[in-house]
Amino acid sequence: MKSKHAQVHFNESGTPVADHFDDVYFSNDSGIDETQHVFVAGNDLLERWQQWRNPTFVIAETGFGTGLNFLVAMRAFNEFKATNPNHPLKHLYFITTEKFPLPQQDMQRALEAFPALKAEAEALAELYPMGLEGCHRLYFERHSTTLDLWIGDVHELLPQWHAPIEGLIDAWFLDGFAPSKNPDMWTDALFSQMARLSKTGTTFGTFTAAGIVKRGLAGVGFDIKKRKGFGRKRDMLTGVFNTANDSVQHKLRLPNGPYYRYVNSAVTEASKVAVVGSGLAAATACLALVKRGINTTLYFDGDTLASGASGNPQGGFYPQLHSEASIASRIQAHSFLYARQAYDHIIKHVKNNGLADVAHDFCGVIQLSFNDKVAERQNKLATADVWPEALIKPVDSKEVSDIANLALPYSGLYIGLGGWLSPPQLVNAMIEEALQSGKLTLKLNHTYVSHKVIEGTPHNQEGGALPGVLDADDVEIASGEAVNGAVRQQVQIRFNVSEPEKCGGNETACATANAGLPQEKPALSGNEKNVIADHLILALGAGAINSEDFNSLSLRPVRGQVEAIPTQPPIDGLNTVLCHKGYMTPALEGRHALGSTYVKNDLTTEVRNEETETNLATHEQALANTSIVQALQHDGKARAATRLGSPDHQPVVGALHNFDVIKSQFAMLSVGKPLTSAPLLPNSVVSTLTCLGSRGLTTAPLMAEVLVSSLCKEPLPLSNDLLNAVNTSRFMTREMIRSQS
Ligand code: SAM
Repeated sequence: MKSKHAQVHFNESGTPVADHFDDVYFSNDSGIDETQHVFVAGNDLLERWQQWRNPTFVIAETGFGTGLNFLVAMRAFNEFKATNPNHPLKHLYFITTEKFPLPQQDMQRALEAFPALKAEAEALAELYPMGLEGCHRLYFERHSTTLDLWIGDVHELLPQWHAPIEGLIDAWFLDGFAPSKNPDMWTDALFSQMARLSKTGTTFGTFTAAGIVKRGLAGVGFDIKKRKGFGRKRDMLTGVFNTANDSVQHKLRLPNGPYYRYVNSAVTEASKVAVVGSGLAAATACLALVKRGINTTLYFDGDTLASGASGNPQGGFYPQLHSEASIASRIQAHSFLYARQAYDHIIKHVKNNGLADVAHDFCGVIQLSFNDKVAERQNKLATADVWPEALIKPVDSKEVSDIANLALPYSGLYIGLGGWLSPPQLVNAMIEEALQSGKLTLKLNHTYVSHKVIEGTPHNQEGGALPGVLDADDVEIASGEAVNGAVRQQVQIRFNVSEPEKCGGNETACATANAGLPQEKPALSGNEKNVIADHLILALGAGAINSEDFNSLSLRPVRGQVEAIPTQPPIDGLNTVLCHKGYMTPALEGRHALGSTYVKNDLTTEVRNEETETNLATHEQALANTSIVQALQHDGKARAATRLGSPDHQPVVGALHNFDVIKSQFAMLSVGKPLTSAPLLPNSVVSTLTCLGSRGLTTAPLMAEVLVSSLCKEPLPLSNDLLNAVNTSRFMTREMIRSQS
């Protein structure tokens, strides 16, 4: 859903004032000093960071406004990191809400008053999102900071934040205009959510000393302290959350999160994670893991990456949006925007490091209105006014023709940030970047066979994990060993290893694999080999069909064939991706991708003449009134692959339990009662990122981020209702509801 922008004017001191609230965004005297005093010092951040032993620290804010508080916190964190390079605290999460985002030019004008924050303000301006409700996860790599900017009303958003049972937030910046100017915000509902999301020891700071705030926060369990206010203000409030004071036990209330839980297995920097797969899901998971400093080993069969559904030379990149902000559309919209940020990053990285290019063109995508039914659907979307124009907008036939650089008699919908990329080159670039971190190892020619959960493997003297993912023969398994009182689980993974010395055309993969392989023990029996890891992520794509691990999930393999037709006039001038019933891309190396067929439950991948005919016929039918039809000449070049989807077409992300075994925890559903809280699922050292279908280019980066954030118990960049829609247990819960007794 698109949001309303703030209407602001600048007062005589140059400070922005919100027309709607008639209040300033920050002090007329000195905005930076106010932030330092009220929020940074008010939460004792510098002292607490020194003492901190976790890798992340999470600040939450009510009211993002100009972003000044965020920039000051990010700069303070950067300075802390620079003076403490080996400190265990490595990354800052700043999660914030904003009901009325400032137009970008107003935000930039407001921040021009603070030259000391120029670098940070420029970094923010580069990533500042469009006004679309929901979470925008923005990654500030050079500042070791992630900003989750949640657009919407704080009262709707906070209940949608998923939190581990121990809490999520470490410090609150309570901003959001004075209670007298904005009474709707400072309510008991806000304070209750703060209690739900806080940990024992979580602090808050706020500029106000209003009684309603003091009493409200004391009432949910904060110990409150008055401190000297900033500038002319006499008092302000700070406080510390004490779970023991929380008589209501807010934390145990899990609104809107009945089926989803954080994967119940904390992965840390000391963990060794194994990822299996060779496509976009696996590559994005690896990148998300190594970004957090986690040692990762990627296993795949064969000797080339992206050999499956991620192997087509060109893939259209766009979200599939409906006229309503449905769950499916919201997943698509946010995945798309996050993916665009991730691809901008990787393309820049490739360029700056002289790595192999990722062929791409963000030339936009046009969904053509090629028949009456489609025209009606598009008209509904255009008039619904649900999506920002920067995401999708109606265009008439003249605009379509101008954008496409081809005369086309159709109107359509234009997705300006979309385009096409080469998925295999993208996968290779992501793996290259992950390898550069020194945290990723590749193991080629490893075909996944099975896994089993084991308990109590030995630890080194510090109690951390053993170095590297180990061959099982090297590890003496001491059953039932307790670590900090809890039995530690790991996963033993069985592979079939074939031809390790052959590495195909992938030089990086070849070098890395060969560097690791000589020390490996011979295979266990025949070509089989076991390895042990702290966590396993299965990103097998269509390979999941052959694995028993997925028996209790609903999977839908779909074969798709894409033609690679030679270019010729007039399609050689095509300047955008055209979508109708099929799609056609601008030329790459003299060929256009023309797709795609859709054959359910077919795992074969040979190219078929009849599917070529189907693809050509789809285009001839939809584009009958255009000059494109004469240029659809085929010379036999095509590629077929199997994508894996799910019955509801959404990705499947999260812990891979044996759902038949844990059904009993959801028993209430089968007698027609709703769950009041998420069942505490068993520990899981195995998870999956799969069923991306034909939309992997759009969904993979955000879904990988969701999974890896969940493994590390970090904030999640999706609201509870969207998490429920992609989680692994949804098939089981739906089945139970359907078969109610
Ligand atoms: N922290 C900001 C900064 O650094 O510029 C200043 C925040 S300004 C004082 C208050 C912000 O809270 C405004 O941007 C306003 O739109 C936002 N706000 C007010 N009511 C809100 C609500 N119910 N939900 C989310 N944001 C809200």
